[in-house]
Amino acid sequence: MQRLRARLARSQGSLGRGLLALIARDKLDDDTWDEIEDTLIAADVGVEPTQELVEHLRTRLRVDGVNDPEQARGILREELVSLVDPSLDRTLNAGGAAGAPGVVLVVGVNGTGKTTTVGRIARVLVAEEQTVLLAAADTFRAAAADQLQTWGERVGCETVRGPEGGDPASVAFEAVKRGSDEGLDTVLVDTAGRLHTKSGLMDELGKVKRVIEKQAPVSEVLLVIDATTGQNGLVQARVFSEVVDVTGVVLTKLDGTAKGGIVIAVQRELGVPVKLVGLGEGADDLAPFVPEDFVDALLD
Ligand code: GDP
Repeated sequence: MQRLRARLARSQGSLGRGLLALIARDKLDDDTWDEIEDTLIAADVGVEPTQELVEHLRTRLRVDGVNDPEQARGILREELVSLVDPSLDRTLNAGGAAGAPGVVLVVGVNGTGKTTTVGRIARVLVAEEQTVLLAAADTFRAAAADQLQTWGERVGCETVRGPEGGDPASVAFEAVKRGSDEGLDTVLVDTAGRLHTKSGLMDELGKVKRVIEKQAPVSEVLLVIDATTGQNGLVQARVFSEVVDVTGVVLTKLDGTAKGGIVIAVQRELGVPVKLVGLGEGADDLAPFVPEDFVDALLD
């Protein structure tokens, strides 16, 4: 965790340092507040949350008459944490109900890090001595199923896959059936993320979900978003959330961008919490998202 935090601080430090330098100025005039706004917008925080944060800071820094940088830092920390919303439940619901495995459906555009995320979640669950089965419901790219299977072999769980070009829903069905028959704890379903047309995506994901639900409730629908894609990632997020009921977000590649504000923008956009973050390409570079740690890394 320390290592991950250090990595996050390295990539996000410029945002935090920029804000700290601005609010520590002797005179917080309108130009300074404009600069603060620009810094937040440039870090992908989003317009509405930026305005909210600036309004709160203006009130508190003026009313409190803060000229002690440490105190100003404390106020900034509090306001950023509250913007990220520590009250949201960020538990990963991977466990099942009586007689049925937990089913985690992982969705998102190709290249965002879905397969990697499935592999990393499997690794964590296996380390907790959970029994896990992987489902390669991305049947359009043989390489995707191979990649998932390699993850499975690496972490010690099996992968259900179908013929190339086969029906993704039937792979999901078979995997969940096996999960039920064998009394497994969790089935992790990797899906195809071809954003060809919204109706195509809707048909495909909708069918996968319906077929799974014939046997077991879907315990979690995780939307994977690449943090480096900024506003484009938000547009994708909107489309996916219209197609399936997303219950949590995995924000990957936070190590590759200084625009950590996307965490705030995504939560606002979708109304669901960021549950996990990807902070590198390694097998253990997936971390639970903890608002306080995230903000501390920003301000480090
Ligand atoms: P998929 O097409 O959505 O299944 O995406 P993949 O899982 O194949 O990942 C695409 C690329 O992103 C791979 O090269 C991964 O190693 C890389 N990747 C995934 N997560 C992260 C992350 O958190 N940080 C970095 N730097 N790279 C990542």
